[in-house]
Amino acid sequence: MTAVSAPATQHTADTGLAAALTDAERQRILAKSALFAPPSGVLPDGRRELVGLSREEMTQALLEIGEKPFRTKQLWHWIYHQGVTDFERMSSIARPLQAKLAERFVIGRPEAATVQTSNDDTRKFLFRFRDGQEAETVYIPDRREDRGAVCISSQVGCTLSCTFCHTGTQKLVRNLGAAEIVGQFMAARDSYGEWPSPRGETPRLLSTIVLMGMGEPLYNYENIAKAMKIIMDGEGIGLSRRRITLSTSGVIPMMDQCGSELGINLAISLHAVRNDLRDEIVPLNRKYPIEELIAACRRYPAASNARRITFEYIMLRGINDSEADARELVRLIAGIPAKVNLIPFNPWPGSSYKPSTREQLAKFAQIVMDAGFASPIRMPRGRDILAACGQLRTESQRERRNQPA
Ligand code: SF4
Repeated sequence: MTAVSAPATQHTADTGLAAALTDAERQRILAKSALFAPPSGVLPDGRRELVGLSREEMTQALLEIGEKPFRTKQLWHWIYHQGVTDFERMSSIARPLQAKLAERFVIGRPEAATVQTSNDDTRKFLFRFRDGQEAETVYIPDRREDRGAVCISSQVGCTLSCTFCHTGTQKLVRNLGAAEIVGQFMAARDSYGEWPSPRGETPRLLSTIVLMGMGEPLYNYENIAKAMKIIMDGEGIGLSRRRITLSTSGVIPMMDQCGSELGINLAISLHAVRNDLRDEIVPLNRKYPIEELIAACRRYPAASNARRITFEYIMLRGINDSEADARELVRLIAGIPAKVNLIPFNPWPGSSYKPSTREQLAKFAQIVMDAGFASPIRMPRGRDILAACGQLRTESQRERRNQPA
């Protein structure tokens, strides 16, 4: 009895210690994230931004001006289902109340500082927020069908310096707030006139969200979580959790929470299968190495055969694209409901990497496919515009610096 129960007790103690360590690490990440908080949602004239408030916060804001909680449902419908930005268009609300709301609140959108549409219809926005900071959003249409993905930014700049990524050359300025994250999606939909929000199975032009733009979303978890809950709310935008994918470089302590609280899809920015190489390409690996990352993927609560984890793998010529790398990749992810996105490197000025050759890409993809994993090669889109993530912002900053004061 004793011989059997002792290891079990030890195991329980180890598990408890690991959980406590993870929890402490999660608290540390959240505390650090708070140091890069976005500006408050109150404008200099005292009006308050309604976009980005949770239902509870909106109800509280309405109570503070003497309005009943049921107004939240009305406002939510007008803001997120109808997409209006003007209280005067809220026909179910009496004129005096429309005027009162307009005195106290605003329904804002980030300003589109630059919009570029590529020959292949990819549209890239540089959105400017109230404090002048900018971040990029990209709409990538599926040319075979009337639908497409919106790639949303989570931070201005990034703390992680992934060596293949242009945004990694920009230091972190701050986190984006929930209003700014939801606002990117709403402003992109304004651009295509996709209001009111399509219901149920009605096709959507802007049909999926990938949190894959500037920044590491799990280093801005609270704002991301709040924004995604707003976007998923069935009485407003109503985008299903199955249509939202968060891409992380591997902030392991936040991955479990993301899966259990939001239930959205997960993508891992993997890019290398050996720790020595990944330490270099994705420096966060020094903190959260490959084996721990893969273990966290195996327990990700929202993964299933119907909702596979995506492993993103940028193909760098002579660096990570050998057949041995491909074989190690399939060994690592064996048993995980997964697919592998192979991404040809999109060169940007200042980077020394080269894209893998077509032949090498094909060989790599074949090995992954033969092991039973879908491995689509993501052809670069928007090559005729500043397509590398972060390039548009760098260009805009340069122009603003060169403008006469
Ligand atoms: S790949 Fe993502 S996490 Fe890495 S530097 Fe670029 S934006 Fe940051």
